[in-house]
Amino acid sequence: MARSEPNVPAPPYAARRRRLVAALRTARVPALLVSNPANVTYLTGFESSNAFLLCTPTAAALITDFRYETAARTLAADQQLELLIAKDGLGRAVATFCRQHHIRTLAFEDDHLTVARYETLRRHVPNVRWRPARPWIMAARLVKDEGELATMRLAVRIAEQAFATIRDHEWIGLTEREAADLLEERLRAAARKWGAHAEPAFPFIVATGPNAAIPHHRPGATLIREGQILLVDWGARVTGYCSDMTRTLFLGTPDAQFKKVYSIVLKAQLAAIRTLKPGVTLKHVDAAARSIIAAAGHAAHFGHATGHRIGLEVHEGLKLAKNNPERARAGMITTIEPGIYLPGWGGVRIEDMVLVTPRGHEVLTALPK
Ligand code: ZN
Ligand code: ZN
Repeated sequence: MARSEPNVPAPPYAARRRRLVAALRTARVPALLVSNPANVTYLTGFESSNAFLLCTPTAAALITDFRYETAARTLAADQQLELLIAKDGLGRAVATFCRQHHIRTLAFEDDHLTVARYETLRRHVPNVRWRPARPWIMAARLVKDEGELATMRLAVRIAEQAFATIRDHEWIGLTEREAADLLEERLRAAARKWGAHAEPAFPFIVATGPNAAIPHHRPGATLIREGQILLVDWGARVTGYCSDMTRTLFLGTPDAQFKKVYSIVLKAQLAAIRTLKPGVTLKHVDAAARSIIAAAGHAAHFGHATGHRIGLEVHEGLKLAKNNPERARAGMITTIEPGIYLPGWGGVRIEDMVLVTPRGHEVLTALPK
């Protein structure tokens, strides 16, 4: 195992902003207010719970508050961004920028900005026409560059190594909550071995026995026992980027029903993975898994999408669902995670991360299943 962080190239923030500006020009959008923190990070590297990026074809400004001023100053200087430190709410700073740059129309991220925040902004910036933006940034984010891919591979490795350090018998006797905490500790330890820092990408799901029938079960006081199903859904966040995977174990000798359900889910998962290549519609990938589960008589027991794209956010863009006509593109990373959930009995989900390559796909997750 390598002990150093891989050579991750510096993210090309300026090139990303140039691509966005080109999209704005084509769409004749004079200015865009970026409010989604993941998008602000994608375009600048700035991480904050309270920041906007304002982009026009000729200017870009980072807007944040005094808590982030020191970090923002360094970053803005490095990247030649204007910096506005908001004294009383970001809205007034947006108004200042619009006045200085004679902006009359401002596009905003309507898939992110809350109604309350939108109304506040409109009060502070009354003299511009607000219009919803197209998902230009998300479209760019869906295709990962070399550096993003290296970081996401590391986030996968760290999560896998954390899980692999816990032997089957170690789960037994813990509560679901304790098991989730243990996995989190192992995750941080695994990251340290890589000279990296990791945190949970989302609250882990640890579900045992009948709780495994609840796809998004919150780990509780239920004791993990031998002779039971254990479903674990976890992932790491490493320098902003997420991994997400699920393994379902049977602690002890699996019974016939578990073996049967597990083999159907695995067959469905492998079938969906096999379809992944550039150009395939996401609903086709979903159908590949869903049809196998339906043919086994479990259509009603698979109530979620087959997967979701992943990157700076655990869920990026539209899902691999029945009605999604979007097509896979090389550089896209998606999860493939069909499941069968039987109330009162339990459930099985198997989730891997898969990269779409120019010729097909590569499964990034290497844990046995
Ligand atoms: Zn998951
Ligand atoms: Zn997932």
